[in-house]
Amino acid sequence: MQRKKRVLITGGAGFIGSHLADKLINEGYTIIVMDNLITGSLKNIEHLFPLKEFEFYNHDVTKFVHIPGELDFILHFASPASPNDYLRIPIHTLKVGSLGTHNLLGLAKEKRSVFLIASTSEIYGDPLENPQAEEYWGNVNPIGPRGVYDEAKRFMESMTMAYHRYHNIDIRIARIFNTFGPRMRLDDGRAIPNFMVQALKNEDITVYGDGNQFRSFCYIDDLVEGIYKLMLSNYIYPINLGFPDMITLNLIAEEIIKLCNSKSKIVYKPLPEDDPKIRKPDITKAKRILNWEPKINRQEGLKRTLEYFRSILK
Ligand code: UDP
Repeated sequence: MQRKKRVLITGGAGFIGSHLADKLINEGYTIIVMDNLITGSLKNIEHLFPLKEFEFYNHDVTKFVHIPGELDFILHFASPASPNDYLRIPIHTLKVGSLGTHNLLGLAKEKRSVFLIASTSEIYGDPLENPQAEEYWGNVNPIGPRGVYDEAKRFMESMTMAYHRYHNIDIRIARIFNTFGPRMRLDDGRAIPNFMVQALKNEDITVYGDGNQFRSFCYIDDLVEGIYKLMLSNYIYPINLGFPDMITLNLIAEEIIKLCNSKSKIVYKPLPEDDPKIRKPDITKAKRILNWEPKINRQEGLKRTLEYFRSILK
């Protein structure tokens, strides 16, 4: 009998990583989650612990990484991802994208694993082109507060491509746009969890700036499907994964108030420094190369997410 393929997911106790772990277990893989739990939570993966196809390492990938046995894929998802988190732990954020990526590429070289990285729409910075296609080089402030995340992820892409070119490592680069769904932390600080918690508690909804900035929000199940298709493809260049329609923050706040039947009112707070004014993925490549596009509309995604937040707040 053929052995099951083994996959290492760094950051596998986090929001996206844990959903990916579920997906890959369901698809018949053996999963190793590595996480140091600085932003992830064991709650997200506790249901996997009884499975023989599952292993967990509490480890910081900026330190040397050793895994015995074969590894078919390494999915590098470890990183603080919410602006609140990376402002709070900026040096860790830089280290996990740089030193962590280097360690894991070394592991990929040793094991001849396919190496997939969770890059981000933040590599486009505050974009001057809309929508953002993969060919756009971006508009990033390296020394601004968000630079710690943006530059770590840009370095991660460069390092990954260099290992491909010089060591012939088989790579995949997912540029992930705003994503939401169950298992986001209630105190994560991002727009959708903040608005939902505020709406459910009938507290003020904190919109930053004038609320006319645009974002495109993708539901987690769709994103995970895209990552899975990318993993199984042989496409080595960056590929955008996200929801192609955009909406203002004001409108999403109103949608959430309505959905929650909430008495909350919108209040306006200062816009964080370098907060992008617009973000919208061009997913032509994902459609053509991966035959992927999101299927779950925002209303449906918001409903499913709301159920989760309700259950946690109870
Ligand atoms: N935002 C907001 N209120 C909040 C949290 C975020 O208005 O309580 C805004 C934020 O300034 C940004 C947008 O929502 O313009 C999306 O922010 P998020 O932190 O979700 O992710 P980002 O797209 O900035 O990475």
